[in-house]
Amino acid sequence: MPISCDVLVVGAGPAGSMAARSAARGRTKTIFIDKKEEVGVPVQCAEGVGKYLFPYLPFKIPKNYLTWKIDGITFQVEDITIERKGGLWEGYTINREKFDKWLSNLAISAGAELRTNTELIHLELDKENNVRKATVRVSKKVIEIEPDVIIAADGVESTVLKLLGSYNPKKGDIAEVYSWEMKNLKLHNPHMEQIYLGDFTPGGYAYIFPKSRTVANVGVGGIMKEKELKRYFHEFLELESVKKQVKNADYVVEKTKKAVWGGITGEWVQGNVLVAGDAANHNLKPFIEGILPSSISGHLAGELGTKMHKGESIEMKQYMESIEKLLHPHFRISRGMVEKMQKWFTSKHCGKHLLFAGILTNLFELERLNELEEMSYKALEVRLLKAKNKRPSQNN
Ligand SMILES: Cc1cc2nc3c(=O)[nH]c(=O)nc-3n(C[C@H](O)[C@H](O)[C@H](O)COP(=O)(O)OP(=O)(O)OC[C@H]3O[C@@H](n4cnc5c(N)ncnc54)[C@H](O)[C@@H]3O)c2cc1C
Repeated sequence: MPISCDVLVVGAGPAGSMAARSAARGRTKTIFIDKKEEVGVPVQCAEGVGKYLFPYLPFKIPKNYLTWKIDGITFQVEDITIERKGGLWEGYTINREKFDKWLSNLAISAGAELRTNTELIHLELDKENNVRKATVRVSKKVIEIEPDVIIAADGVESTVLKLLGSYNPKKGDIAEVYSWEMKNLKLHNPHMEQIYLGDFTPGGYAYIFPKSRTVANVGVGGIMKEKELKRYFHEFLELESVKKQVKNADYVVEKTKKAVWGGITGEWVQGNVLVAGDAANHNLKPFIEGILPSSISGHLAGELGTKMHKGESIEMKQYMESIEKLLHPHFRISRGMVEKMQKWFTSKHCGKHLLFAGILTNLFELERLNELEEMSYKALEVRLLKAKNKRPSQNN
């Protein structure tokens, strides 16, 4: 016998759990599934969250989940170091496993039913292209679920989008991140995140995100790799200032995964399917910050899914406007960033790391990109140093 429900959420990451919570709060019979045996495991993330996003959240994060305070970010490009503190740059490191479990428990408390070890493998559509049946695999068994509405919160490799035939990333739309949690580090400043740019970052950046005085997530991410990402990572570890910090370090656990830069689908509403979180590219560029934005996106998708179940027609435009309004102005800036920076990642311009550093630090305006593109390496360097000296580090 198939199981029937009002809203089926695929994925129990931040987007899925928050979608399940808001759908259940809207008095719908909600099931959320995840192919993982345990929510939040394995962790494939650098675990940093920006404090500036807290006012936008549909929940209050308990203090004990904010495990390590981050005062700001130090950027290093060539031999220029830029420090940004406070405001946009302030945040925390969380324990992603505990955080994801906490979010899924919020959904369960609201009445949603969680089924782990449950993988979506097939969708059956009707003539109007609405999903009528979802087939899921649980161990060796196959179960059918008949939902009224589906929320695709299944991340960067979205099975829902693949099964709908709308998983269409182009080259450069998906980044790869090679990352490790490392211990026994000698961090310069354990309360500052570190971001590095250079030839070891193929259209992206390298990072050290502290979790404690001696533990950090260390990685290299990029969208345009020309060799194995692991090799860029080892080049990064050889940088003078990084080498000193990792000299006696041990590898704890690998956290490598793909991340969404340009998007995998342009359609966030497809028949009775709503797409949320990474699957809808609802993370914020240029840092590909997705933990909190995905939970906000999921919350909205759950509300819209409830309306859809109650007979309201939901349009992509309405979804887009709602997310822009919810994450104003960050979401709009992020979308602009994708279009403008993609070209720069592949450019052979000798000053491309300086330019990206200027954008990451907010010292260069994206609107001035055309003008900046014309500049020589030396001129960009002068411009970056001037901007750095003009702005105190303690601002946005
Ligand atoms: C290495 C790395 C470091 C990152 N660091 C940060 C950071 O420091 N800060 C930050 O804010 N963001 C970071 N991000 C981005 C962030 O992790 C994502 O944006 C966020 O996890 C997106 O949430 P989501 O719920 O949309 O997707 P996910 O968290 O990916 O959740 C999707 C869920 O769907 C499940 N699923 C997939 N397919 C199926 C299926 N067929 N059936 C059932 N379940 C399925 C998966 O098991 C998964 O649990 C990082 C990303 C990477 C790759």
